Order: sequence, then structure tokens, then C-alpha cells
Amino acid sequence: MQLFNPNHDRKAVVIFSGGQDSTTCLIQAIQQYGKQNLETITFKYGQRHAIELDKAQWICQDLGIKQTLIDMESTQIFSANAMMSDSPIKTGNNGVPNTLVDGRNALFLLYAAIYAKGQGITDIITGVCETDFSGYPDCRDIFIKSMNVTLNLAMDYNFRIITPLMYLTKAQTWQLADELDALDYVQQHSHTCYLGIDGGCGECPSCQLRNKGLNEYLALKSAVKNANEIGRNNSVNSTSIGG
Ligand SMILES: [Zn+2]
Repeated sequence: MQLFNPNHDRKAVVIFSGGQDSTTCLIQAIQQYGKQNLETITFKYGQRHAIELDKAQWICQDLGIKQTLIDMESTQIFSANAMMSDSPIKTGNNGVPNTLVDGRNALFLLYAAIYAKGQGITDIITGVCETDFSGYPDCRDIFIKSMNVTLNLAMDYNFRIITPLMYLTKAQTWQLADELDALDYVQQHSHTCYLGIDGGCGECPSCQLRNKGLNEYLALKSAVKNANEIGRNNSVNSTSIGG
């Protein structure tokens, strides 16, 4: 894999769950920073299924990236919600799914920043996105910018919180994975399913979002390919006619 490393010798930590989004961010970061300047941090906070953590660990080992697991289960500060219990996943009247964990990204960023500074790392990469998850207030760009300022002030340090997926749709995130030459890898190895089914259940909101995005992207890709082929054939025909 060619490293162009526009970030020179900056070091970065990726907040890594093993899902589609953070796996795409990780692969992009490897190309941008180089493995030697990169590590991941994974939070254990009482997820419904151990498979998420297993997948995250597997990917880090497979890609040769240092992973630090932070156990936050003992803090017991997370409110009860469908991410951590067996209650059904549904969307409330306010449009926010009951998988929302209040303040989760805020807390992750704080822990990641404390860890990062200790390692001499400035750049914190997170796959949060406000396009598909409008109900999650701490996924919004305005919150991330505010948190960046807060962390800098809190620790007197120049953090850069980087959110490569902030304005991408799921289809565009798949496109990014494809551009990174990692579409198959992300598809095969990342885990997104809320029900913890290896390879995805295809039914839960997370699987539906992921599959819908993938289908949209693949449809667009094949439409572009067909259009290009038609264009090429037309130009060949017109050349032969003209010649
Ligand atoms: Zn699922």
C-alpha cells in the first residue's frame, strides 16, 4: 500500500468500534498517516454483543494496528437503552432511536483525548456523521467543533478532531471505502448489526441502513460504468463512421 502521508509525522488515534464507519476511517488513516503513526482506541461500555469487540480486535490485528481497549462498563454511567439491553430497538416519537446513549461520543472524545495527549498524539479521528443520524446530538459537526475547543482548553494542547464522514451518506461512505480499495474488506469484516449476527441480520435498522447505502452505491457505480461504456462505444462508432 502506497503511503502519501500528507500529515507528515503527525500521529493519530482512531476511535474504533469495528463498524463500517470506523473501519473505513481506519483504512483511510492508514493511507494518510502510515501504520507507525496510528493506533486505535476501542470502548467497552456494555454493548449488547461481544461480537462487536471481537470484530474490532480482529481487524486491528489483521491490519497490524495497535489497539487499546478501554473498559467503561464499571462506570455504570450509561443510561439504560437498547444498545445495552435486550429491549427492542425502535424509533421514539421525537425521531430518535432508543439506541441513543446520551453523551456517549462526548465521553469517548474526552477519554480519547486524555489517552492521545499521553501518547504525544494530536489527531483524533472519529467516524461520527450527522447525515444519517440526525437524532444523535453529539454526532453533529457543531458539537465536535465545540468539543475540540473544550479539549484544547482543558488540556492546553492542540488537538485536531477529524471527522471524515461527517457529511457523507451511507452510500458515499461505501464509495469512500471503494476509493480506498477496501470495499470488500469493509463489507466482509466490519460489524454493524444491532442484533449481533455475524454477517448482519439484514432486518435491524443498522443493517437496513448499511445495506440500503451499499445497494445505492453499487447501483450508481454500475450506472456510471454503463454510461461510460455506451459513451466509448458511441465514440468508436462515430470514429469509424467518420473514418
Ligand atoms: Zn442487523
